Amino acid sequence: MVVAYNAASAAQQTNNPFDTALSQYDRAVHYLDLPAGVIEFLRYPRREFSVNFPVKRDDGRIEMFTGYRVHHNTVLGPSKGGIRYSLAVDLDEVRALAMWMTWKCALAGIPYGGAKGGVVVDPKTLSPRELEALTRRYAAELIPLMSPHSDIPAPDMGTNPQVMAWIMDTYSMTVGYSVPAVVTGKPLNIGGSQGRNEATGRGVIICMVEALKRWGNVRPEDIRLVVQGFGNVGANAASYAHSLGFKIVGISDITGGVYNANGLDVPLMRNFVAEHGDLNGYAGGDIVTNDELLTLPCDVLIPAAMEGQITGKNAAQIQARMIVEGANGPTTPDGDDILNERGIYVVPDILANGGGVVVSYFEWVQDLQAFFWDAEEVYRQLQRAMVRSYYATESVAEEYNVDMRTASQILAIRRVADAVITRGIYP
Ligand code: GLU
Repeated sequence: MVVAYNAASAAQQTNNPFDTALSQYDRAVHYLDLPAGVIEFLRYPRREFSVNFPVKRDDGRIEMFTGYRVHHNTVLGPSKGGIRYSLAVDLDEVRALAMWMTWKCALAGIPYGGAKGGVVVDPKTLSPRELEALTRRYAAELIPLMSPHSDIPAPDMGTNPQVMAWIMDTYSMTVGYSVPAVVTGKPLNIGGSQGRNEATGRGVIICMVEALKRWGNVRPEDIRLVVQGFGNVGANAASYAHSLGFKIVGISDITGGVYNANGLDVPLMRNFVAEHGDLNGYAGGDIVTNDELLTLPCDVLIPAAMEGQITGKNAAQIQARMIVEGANGPTTPDGDDILNERGIYVVPDILANGGGVVVSYFEWVQDLQAFFWDAEEVYRQLQRAMVRSYYATESVAEEYNVDMRTASQILAIRRVADAVITRGIYP
């Protein structure tokens, strides 16, 4: 007998991401008239893989590491999702992130299921050679699970195009020929796509621009943004918003935040990080903590760091009128309740940060066809995909009279559940 995941009420008290994912699911699924067995089916990850493996450190010691890969659902196609290197990785986090990938891909209308992987490691503590060794060994362990037609990894927190190149190479050396389509977010020279690096952050801002139309004819220079996180998502969202003329008044990374009511110089901050590794010591504004950053005066807050940032403890203090989620799972269910009560408009993660996996899909299509697009084409198609998903979600929100998170989940769950029903239950 399997143990039922029974987390909906636990999510009110804990900050466990899988509890959050299940609670969101339970809130949305009850609007749909689905067979009870289908509702139950979609609460479970399909496969959960965990692996313990050795890595030889530069000083000759052998150290053990733990990694995971979870395939939540594969009804709509091969499973898709990033690989995270972080000390916060555990099985429940990977389960949550895999489930969110299922909904994210379904909502974007791309033919994938959802997966996620992670290794419990702080990549900053590894030398480049150690990082390569860890990546190749983890990739080798994943080989039975991955292929361009079964499971396709991508970057996430703590990983980057170089890590994807090592995964692609490890897989290719094992099968005996080059398989670019086994992984997305690769460097351009080995089958990566134009625009993939920028895609998640750009997609967040595309959604924000559509959402701002609710406020009438606003001018970008009158809209103050705060961005939590200055990694791939936060930095690219801030850069793209800056290029459109929005005023970014607050930015943070893991070392803390900077606030400047007159607007921050985002390109300068990116140069600073490229030179120093993080924002620590950047002098272009007042120093704030990561907690303070979330409650700064602003119009739009973009959490682009990690899960569980906006909670029952701080949601009442948030001053933004709109939240556009660049991170996966930044808001807990009790945080959501407070935001909804206060009328703060939330553009949810599976909608707002879907640009990354949308361009991953374009990369995979380009690899399979061995025919590559220019950046203009990628951005045009990304824009189309994001705007279409945004308005599809908005119309479900109106139809069911629910918030945008619940609407995004209703739409995504409906698409996956319909596919389950059409395909039938095997055998
Ligand atoms: N890691 C990204 C996400 O959370 C991208 C996944 C992908 O491109 O497969 O959406």
